[in-house]
Amino acid sequence: MLKTIEEMRDKMVDLLCKVIEIKAISPDFGGEGELDKAELLMRYLKDFDNVERFDARDERVKGGVRPNIVAKVKGVVNKTIWIITHLDVVPEGDERLWRTPPFKAVIENGKVYGRGSEDNGQSIVSSLFAGIAVLNADVKPKYNLGLVFVSDEESGSEYGLKHLLKQGIFSKEDFFIVPDVGSPKGELIEIAEKSILWLKFEVFGVQSHASMPVKNASRRAMKFLLDLDEKLHAKFNMRNDLFDPPYSTFEPTKRDKNVDNVNTIPGLDVSYMDCRILPEYSLDDVIDYIESVRRFYEIKDKERLNVEVIQRSSSPKTPENSEIVLKLSETIYNLRGIKPKLFGIGGNTCASFLRNAGFRNAVAWCTTDSTAHKPNEYCKIDNMVEDAKVLSALFFDPKY
Ligand SMILES: [Zn+2]
Repeated sequence: MLKTIEEMRDKMVDLLCKVIEIKAISPDFGGEGELDKAELLMRYLKDFDNVERFDARDERVKGGVRPNIVAKVKGVVNKTIWIITHLDVVPEGDERLWRTPPFKAVIENGKVYGRGSEDNGQSIVSSLFAGIAVLNADVKPKYNLGLVFVSDEESGSEYGLKHLLKQGIFSKEDFFIVPDVGSPKGELIEIAEKSILWLKFEVFGVQSHASMPVKNASRRAMKFLLDLDEKLHAKFNMRNDLFDPPYSTFEPTKRDKNVDNVNTIPGLDVSYMDCRILPEYSLDDVIDYIESVRRFYEIKDKERLNVEVIQRSSSPKTPENSEIVLKLSETIYNLRGIKPKLFGIGGNTCASFLRNAGFRNAVAWCTTDSTAHKPNEYCKIDNMVEDAKVLSALFFDPKY
């Protein structure tokens, strides 16, 4: 079977090039959606045992739908290994930073350049050809194979994986691989994601002439933010070496503009904080603690101070000894001779929605140089082909 995949190398490169040249951008970023890309992939899935579409309606895009494809190959036992990739890509960013046109596939030195080549084109192709190899193998696969191609991953997954989770097609015993984050040799398996908490602070004061200060909202905000920053780091100081950095981060980021001139004291200061919190902590506890600091400053200064949560998401960790972790580690070891390490990330992938929905056998893995969202994004052809081998080998006993 590994030889079959090797022989399909040129077809894989050809499909990746086609995938790159279909600009599947979310309407949230001004694009026309994922329909063309989904229809291209449907042509490759004709021979699968079962192919279904679970499209979500969205009047903003071409065809009025955000497509989600589920394709299956039947196995011996009643357990499915799902491989989930996403159809959408982010815009090119500043085009002047690109050496080649972002939506034209350019092959150079064993790499294919273009927006979406790595994120998530590489894994769309590697999982699809792993599926074709499993389908055409001369023995029936041990597990059912489920290929899932979702829309809307880059802007919230409402029309993608979240929509699919409502259809009840997954079972709690199933395995899930999300090939959307990885490392250059494929030596890292992602089992956890930090919780995300975005906060908005409105700190009030009294607007006045700078020569006659009363209550300066800007100074009050700076004191509050610095104090809150220190207090959060001290209170939620647990370390977990799964993550890089191995601790929770609390970063003041955006600050809204206040007054236009130097000699006016601002009566309102609006700022934001991006927090990435280790999964050991409950976000409710963090928010309660922030509320206690907020209240202290309101009473002390006898002036209003508002805190608003503008985004929050968290997901449990996939256990280190879960079956999917052991199975994938063993397969990588058999094919590549390396013992993978487990790790966590500060961002979010589809795996977090699965873990949240109670699917504990969910990991993210692929082999990549991490060029996603950057200019001159590329996919190494070898990574795409070798990942297809690992993904297909999961469905058979190592002897096969
Ligand atoms: Zn991605």
